[in-house]
Amino acid sequence: MTTDRLRHAQLAGIAEKIDAHERLSFDDGVQLFHAPDLLALGWLANRERERRHGDRTYFNHNLRLEATNVCEATCLFCAFARLRPGDAGAHTMTVEQVLAKLRVRAHQPLTEIHIVNGLHPDLPFDYYKDLLRGLKAIRPDIHLKCFTAVEIAFFADLYGISDEQVLIELGAAGLDSLPGGGAEIFAARVRQKICHDKCDGDRFLAIHRTAHHLGMRTNVTMLYGHIETIEERVDHLVQIRSLQDDTHGFQAFIPLAFHPDNNQMRKLPAPSASDTLRVHAVGRLMLDNVDHIKAYWISSGVEIAQTALWFGADDLDGTVQEETIYHMAGSKTPTALSTDDIEALIRDARREPIERDTLYNVVRVPVAAH
Ligand code: SF4
Repeated sequence: MTTDRLRHAQLAGIAEKIDAHERLSFDDGVQLFHAPDLLALGWLANRERERRHGDRTYFNHNLRLEATNVCEATCLFCAFARLRPGDAGAHTMTVEQVLAKLRVRAHQPLTEIHIVNGLHPDLPFDYYKDLLRGLKAIRPDIHLKCFTAVEIAFFADLYGISDEQVLIELGAAGLDSLPGGGAEIFAARVRQKICHDKCDGDRFLAIHRTAHHLGMRTNVTMLYGHIETIEERVDHLVQIRSLQDDTHGFQAFIPLAFHPDNNQMRKLPAPSASDTLRVHAVGRLMLDNVDHIKAYWISSGVEIAQTALWFGADDLDGTVQEETIYHMAGSKTPTALSTDDIEALIRDARREPIERDTLYNVVRVPVAAH
């Protein structure tokens, strides 16, 4: 990329700052989102991606489960939740039904189970602890990445204990780490409009801080492409970066595209491909202290996730297998990819696939077929 092109894209000053190892400011973040030349922005983000990871592109062999979609919250963007047990489409698995999902796959080289649920008002705390204990009994080696910070806050309020106590008790039952969902956009203006009845941004971050202090690693997301402003996106990124300075507990930043089908925000358009690529690129450049940027193919679509591997992303998430949250909101992606599919996608993007576990230990370096 020539200096002229960066200058023309109004990115030369930011490129110089990055070269001088200077941290980008809030205003730089806004400027990145407004940069007219998407390819120049992508080039800058890709340079940072390659400095950290070269061509390496991570994925894992995981199983996504949603034990209940009964939820007392009313997030406008959500097509997954059903308010009450018994409502059409409401489902709550018994602990045994959840365990059966793992039992039939126990022979697979899975390394992670990822569980996210609705906020069910009637389940006892033991339900979740029995779930974790049961999964570990079947596969003690498997990593349990379960329950968003929103769920942790909900458990604390429902069962009358502190957020920290919830994490300690779930940790004792087998919880290894927290997924990054529920962050949406931290700004109170947006949260008030799209998800007013779940935990606010401050508590979300405080729960991640507590989890980090307890030794758990976590991820963090951003739901983009709905009513948020560019400034609110940058504020979200800066708040993540600030907590990460203190704890170093976030492993990956995961942009999540808003999907408009079957929810109360269906009049809004979905974010464009270029916006999705831009969010990944700006995330890579602003989050100088977060190791990984994940292109979650379920949310962005497989082709855009593959392209994002040249716009700052170094991770494609995993095989997933049973996702419903995005599919109920209209996602046209497959519900599962095999490890062969993911490897082929990465190789096709001229990157090197690396199978990782949840904590980014290398599980396998797949050998290319000739
Ligand atoms: S996004 Fe989560 S908390 Fe909000 S309504 Fe859906 S399931 Fe419930």
